[in-house]
Amino acid sequence: MNAIEVNDLVKKYGDVVAVDGVSFNVKEGEIFSLLGPNGAGKTTTIKAILGLIKINGGTIKINGKDVFLNGKEAKKNIGYLPETPSFYENLTALQTLQFFAELKGVSEDCMALLKEFGLENAARRRVGTFSKGMMQRLALAQCIIGKPKLLILDEPTSGLDALAAYEVRKKIKELNEKGTTILFSSHILSEVQEVSHRVAVLNKGKIIAIDTIQNLGKKFKMHPKLRIELQRPSSYILNFVKNVRGVEEASMDKNVLEVVCNPSVKTNVIKAIEEAGGKIIDFKTIEPSLEEIFIKMVRKNE
Ligand code: ATP
Repeated sequence: MNAIEVNDLVKKYGDVVAVDGVSFNVKEGEIFSLLGPNGAGKTTTIKAILGLIKINGGTIKINGKDVFLNGKEAKKNIGYLPETPSFYENLTALQTLQFFAELKGVSEDCMALLKEFGLENAARRRVGTFSKGMMQRLALAQCIIGKPKLLILDEPTSGLDALAAYEVRKKIKELNEKGTTILFSSHILSEVQEVSHRVAVLNKGKIIAIDTIQNLGKKFKMHPKLRIELQRPSSYILNFVKNVRGVEEASMDKNVLEVVCNPSVKTNVIKAIEEAGGKIIDFKTIEPSLEEIFIKMVRKNE
């Protein structure tokens, strides 16, 4: 079952086509990310999914229900983290969550929720005094009031330092492991690679690729890298390996030989090393990073 279905979405702001025929499905139980540079159309797509803006074309369904024709039903059980969350500065953290629980019409142990997000000591502090990281954690806590089955997070780690961003990613994974479907947007490639099951890459309002990270690598013919630790490295071994058919690149740094090659010739590389008198201590295959894939995709698209 699809949690979200977006079909041929078009959104224009005057002459600017912010989203230009975007289609994708988010399956129940997965973490799906929208990845793209600034201005790619991620926030516009998210706002459209939530029915917060009028669209110029296409259809959007949440749990099979049309967001524009049957909005109340469609949006019944979702949590949303906007790109820039804002709260009443004079309310305390606890009052803020209680206020949202009331709005959602659910009873929630807000103190337990604050604890879950490491904010128990700040429960009675006014939100106006919170740091960006604390605000983001409070915003995430607000999102999961009522235990929604679907979370939509717009740039959830934006503006956070490395530790706070790490905590948010950890939380996203934990929530997903408990069964929550998550759609999130980001322009941080490593983050998307770490957290998501599938990714749609947006550029200038269009989807230029949509798949798992691994399949994107295959599609864009990004070959994995072999990292081979040798006991007796030599330039002779390096040259021998460079001549193996299917090897695209080979380089040596101290006793580590790195080889980019067609996966089908991996065993030939090993054989070549042994034939050249090399002894392998350790061997690893490193999949192409999303960063490499992304650069290749955007270049091809442009
Ligand atoms: P970012 O990572 O910077 O948040 P994004 O991928 O979320 O970018 P959007 O905010 O969806 O991109 O913007 C897509 C395009 O639509 C951009 O060219 C942007 O300038 C334009 N746009 C977005 N909102 C408006 C608006 N309210 N009025 C006019 N143009 C807009």
